[in-house]
Amino acid sequence: MNSKINIAIDGHSSCGKGTLAKNIAKELGYLFIDSGAMYRAVTLYLLNEGITLTELEEDPAVLGNIKIEFVYNSEKKFYETHLNQENVENEIRNMRVSRFVSPVSTIKVVRDFLVKKQQEMGQNKGVVMDGRDIGTVVFPDAELKIFMTASPEVRAKRRYEELSKKGIHINYQEVLHNIRERDQMDSTRKESPLRKAEDAITLDNTSMTKQEQAKISLQWAKGVIAALDE
Ligand code: C5P
Repeated sequence: MNSKINIAIDGHSSCGKGTLAKNIAKELGYLFIDSGAMYRAVTLYLLNEGITLTELEEDPAVLGNIKIEFVYNSEKKFYETHLNQENVENEIRNMRVSRFVSPVSTIKVVRDFLVKKQQEMGQNKGVVMDGRDIGTVVFPDAELKIFMTASPEVRAKRRYEELSKKGIHINYQEVLHNIRERDQMDSTRKESPLRKAEDAITLDNTSMTKQEQAKISLQWAKGVIAALDE
């Protein structure tokens, strides 16, 4: 037998959750889902339509107009985020969206809408999902939960380099400021604040390479699967 599990990866902004989740998913042949991209896509929609948070809370039905899909790009070999049939993979990473995404994520109707979709995606297991509330709210029964963290400066440097490589020009101090602000907002919000699930394993990758963290996490995953198969 080869039991399938769900893997929840939570943690602070820009600490490499996506990279780790992608690596684990690839090795295990699982589906990787970037839940942050879903919050970003909702944010982009609201910005484009000029809908304020007050208006959204008064009329949550507008969320019904939002269709988010992950579409495989065979050239780039990864899934890209589509919002209402449009590829928004790059646009959702820009600072306009980054500045507004944490306030949007504090809204209960937004969380309820996205959590439901995320739970549907994981119902057949075999999913690696990264976010802030995956181990605590989305998949409280995930067989493996990892809580990632790293110093804000290291995270800002990584994010800055990642955005620069994509041709998105921005200054380092602004990235650091945005990371600190999102950490603060994500950890103190009323709805599903970022916190480590009691049964999550902490992974501080401040001085770890991508390969090291992937190796150790894969060992954890394979250990859990082997125990289920016994
Ligand atoms: O993961 P990423 O940094 O792209 O997420 C963007 C923002 O979306 C986070 O700062 C957080 O406010 C929100 N988020 C959330 N819950 C998740 C994933 C992301 O509140 N599961």
